Amino acid sequence: MPTRQTATKPKPYLLYAIDTKGKPVHIDSVPNGFSCGCKCPHCNSELQAKNGGNERAHHFAHKNGADCRGAVESAIHCLAKEILKESLYVMLPDYAGELRFDKVESERNFPDLKLRPDCVGYYGGKSLWIEFKRTHEVDAHKAGKIISARNDCIEIDLKYCEQDKEKLREFITQNSENRKWIYSSEYGVGLAEHAASNRNSSKKDDFDLESVKLERHFAIDEGGTLIDFRVPSEFDAINHSYYCPNCGKEVVVKVDDNGRYSFDHIDENISCDDEMYLRGAAVAAIQKSFENSKSFLIDVPQYRYCKQGDKCPCNQECRIPTIRQYDLKSYHFVNCKKDYKFNDVSYRTDLVLYSENIQKNAIEVRVNTENFENEIETPRRLIEVTVYSENDVCRLKHGLKEFDNVRFSGFDENAKETANPVEIKRDVLKYTIYASGKIYIGPVKCTELHSSQNRLNVIKEGVFVRTNGCVEDMYDFLHLHFKMLQNELCCCRLCSYLKKSNGLGGDYICIRYKKVGTPKNPLKEKNPPKECLYFREDFNILKRENELNEEMEIVELS
Ligand SMILES: [Zn+2]
Ligand SMILES: [Zn+2]
Ligand SMILES: [Zn+2]
Ligand SMILES: [Zn+2]
Repeated sequence: MPTRQTATKPKPYLLYAIDTKGKPVHIDSVPNGFSCGCKCPHCNSELQAKNGGNERAHHFAHKNGADCRGAVESAIHCLAKEILKESLYVMLPDYAGELRFDKVESERNFPDLKLRPDCVGYYGGKSLWIEFKRTHEVDAHKAGKIISARNDCIEIDLKYCEQDKEKLREFITQNSENRKWIYSSEYGVGLAEHAASNRNSSKKDDFDLESVKLERHFAIDEGGTLIDFRVPSEFDAINHSYYCPNCGKEVVVKVDDNGRYSFDHIDENISCDDEMYLRGAAVAAIQKSFENSKSFLIDVPQYRYCKQGDKCPCNQECRIPTIRQYDLKSYHFVNCKKDYKFNDVSYRTDLVLYSENIQKNAIEVRVNTENFENEIETPRRLIEVTVYSENDVCRLKHGLKEFDNVRFSGFDENAKETANPVEIKRDVLKYTIYASGKIYIGPVKCTELHSSQNRLNVIKEGVFVRTNGCVEDMYDFLHLHFKMLQNELCCCRLCSYLKKSNGLGGDYICIRYKKVGTPKNPLKEKNPPKECLYFREDFNILKRENELNEEMEIVELS
């Protein structure tokens, strides 16, 4: 296991230097003083071997005792390269086993990539680049270029290693720690079906807030086109530069120690919000799909209304949702402008789709995120898209069709087609008042509303279009409502015990008057016969008349 150096430990002496043959040599294997003929592995200046005597630790020193930062790191790097060339094998990341080489080259130049990998190991017609990580990366574009070139490459971090050749050999060839894939054709970038975390071990125990940062796979190239570095045909860091979809600053692919691949700003001090990055990428994705396809489909939600039309008492409610697909391009919306400012609104529109005249015939496209939403009203038709993740951006590359989080405003909501009420399957609350005085309230299909109309014992029927939900109140409301029709429907007419007498006058009499003590002629009474069990007009209900009228609404069936 590598040992961690503590901050208090003094700076280590330089124990290895480069000899005249270009190989790293140990301080104890060279002549004393400048006659050692060795050079600094970092700055290449001549070194003095201080290896006489037993008082001080033997070491190489720069002329005049100059302090060469990075000399020790470079010495360890040179040793590592030498070890690889001697051993001809390396232990791969993630305990993927050791890889044995036929040959190892170091410092080979690849002019087309402008890269010089530390080592290249050749095996069975294939090759693996081995990079030893530097504390200060010189070429920020390196990882992106390696991925674009599809060169298998691992990076080994030697920061916990010391100038001890045997320990270093053990670390490189026996240990799987502190190394990661930069690119692997097996687990590689570009194979979108591989989850990013599979490429290197996901060290969940190292969890900290930092790792919650979004992995950014999208960037904009010089031409303003959105690219995804996981897509081999889109990403080419050898010939292109890439920029942040939000802030526009240059970005490069970086591979962090947890093996997460992400576009990151070259300037690490830029703070660029992840949600705003998603927005920028989504806008660019929609624009790309609009510009690259012959058609641009949108699925606008509409309603098909009940074909009974005015005859349907539930009218506005009686409908089923449907989707109307438009191809905006066939409606002459063939132009697209990003970040456009209309004079009649205060904001800049993310995207405008328009035909000939942007002022006269335009559709606005807005992109929202979880915490960012532009709610300002616009006089134009509006398409609002909400993105939550990079997956949403991927889907937007194929347009708005079938994208879930889209809202349309200002588009026609009425479908040309009507709906058969059978399809609507909507229950309406129907009431039926029978001659017996019974009232029935219950759900029926709007098509079944008229079925009982010809039944002789039905006095009134209709539907509730609005209620307060309380069934008792609905009964009371109906009694009150039909009290208004005094002649036809006085409350006792709702009572099955009120019968027309056979006498000369033909009056209505209550046939139970002898038993329950109600008036014989309730319709002739000045005051309503409260004591009758079947007489519903009680004064408490009367007091609620206004309240119930506000809460409920019925439509009578004609
Ligand atoms: Zn030096
Ligand atoms: Zn940015
Ligand atoms: Zn209907
Ligand atoms: Zn009665």
